[in-house]
Amino acid sequence: MTTSTETVAIVLHFNDFRLADNRVLARALSQHLLVLPLYVYTSAQEKRQQFGVDKISGHRLDWRRGAISDLRHRYQQVGADLVIREGDWAEEVAKIAREIDAVAIYGQRFKTSEEMATCQAIEKATPTLAHHWIWNDTLFEPNELPVNPATFPWSFSSFRRKVEKRFKVPKPISAPLIVPMPQCSPGSLPEPDWSLPELNEHSPIETLAYGETGAWAQVDAYLWTGDHLKNYKETRNGMLNWADSSKLSPYLALGLISPRSVIEEVERYERERTQNDSTYWLKFEVLWREYFHAFGFFAGTDLFKVGGVKKRNVDWARDEAKFDRWCRGLTGVPIVDACMRELSQTGYLSNRGRQIVASYLVRYLAIDWRWGAAFFEYALIDYDPCSNWGNWQYLAGVGTDSRDRTFSMRRQTQHYDGQCLYIRRWVPEAQKKSVAQLMQMTPIGPNEEGTVTIG
Ligand code: FAD
Repeated sequence: MTTSTETVAIVLHFNDFRLADNRVLARALSQHLLVLPLYVYTSAQEKRQQFGVDKISGHRLDWRRGAISDLRHRYQQVGADLVIREGDWAEEVAKIAREIDAVAIYGQRFKTSEEMATCQAIEKATPTLAHHWIWNDTLFEPNELPVNPATFPWSFSSFRRKVEKRFKVPKPISAPLIVPMPQCSPGSLPEPDWSLPELNEHSPIETLAYGETGAWAQVDAYLWTGDHLKNYKETRNGMLNWADSSKLSPYLALGLISPRSVIEEVERYERERTQNDSTYWLKFEVLWREYFHAFGFFAGTDLFKVGGVKKRNVDWARDEAKFDRWCRGLTGVPIVDACMRELSQTGYLSNRGRQIVASYLVRYLAIDWRWGAAFFEYALIDYDPCSNWGNWQYLAGVGTDSRDRTFSMRRQTQHYDGQCLYIRRWVPEAQKKSVAQLMQMTPIGPNEEGTVTIG
């Protein structure tokens, strides 16, 4: 094939490690003869802390490393390769652009401040190139949503009603069959310098495979082979089993599958298997994700501020010892400790578990919600800035919902872990205790202490 260097573009993979329904890649391929896919590994970012908490855990690093390796493999299958460099994004992009005479840069468009700053630095380092920042991680483009920025923050219900009434989810784009690429040394990922805690044999995510390949395997296992979607609404609050919920969040968070592809698969299931409340409910939950992404877009830096979008002035406690015990699953409240240990050991926690431990931190310990959000950011393999900080604001009463979301720890335990099977799985000290004793250790409300000490 004869090509002109005028036609070379760089495609940046920030947080969209997939080929299918990748609008950034598709746009670049439609405009240029040659496309160079690039990922820059920035270890400096990983060494930072916020509120005394590291930014990123071994589980998260491992999950991302697996995603990048898988993406490289997938590029190789379509005649290309993922070029990997280590250092600063802006500097490395500028170097590669000079090396291959690129004329344009394509990358994902972001809603959150740190990521936007990286894109701005890239623009500054490559002033003569054309820059194309494209929405690539939501169902709809935030700026085309049927919501009025002037009346923000709106509630989820009003957001959902408008979106469901007026919008149809666009069809996903197929993965390219071939990616023509210029000559460039591929580079490699640095050897990992982190270690993983031993995975508990019962981890609900133990079987998840890495990368885009793993994402489609999970869709197949949950929807098609396992046929679990038809019961999703009844099981989604469960805490014990792999099949209780879709476990698609670790894939959505790194852009290993797009939300449009998830919706398309659910609708195919509705056509080919069954359509019921459960199939609707998974789409409903994906709309929650969409809502928090719109929330992040309109909130700007208020997403991370202590007063939240409501700009509420709350006198939060900043008790480091109590916070440390919460992080390590040593609060003495069995359900909280079980959840926090699962989170630390696996990098995952069910939605029910996240609500329980967040409610405990902000309502029982009255600790600054941002500390909890920072720990989740560190620990969760499905960490997503908008979903994480948005959900925390919601539960802390500084987001869109002002209702008091204080959960009774005892009622939550009775309802979701009545036989204490989940607690016993994650808290070995609880194994010798009866259900009655474990319930007695669990406070009913924020002002009541548990009456027995764990151990
Ligand atoms: P399923 O029940 O199968 O749901 C399907 C998909 O819908 C999920 O993969 C997710 O993309 C979306 N979804 C479901 N519930 C929510 C929700 N409340 N908010 C936004 N999206 C939702 N989710 C993240 O992906 N990343 C986060 O960093 C994150 N932090 C959270 C922090 C707190 C305090 C709370 C209460 C929730 C948080 N969630 C976050 C939302 C939710 O807990 C997870 O998306 C869900 O548990 C993932 O498991 P699943 O894929 O099996 O979910």
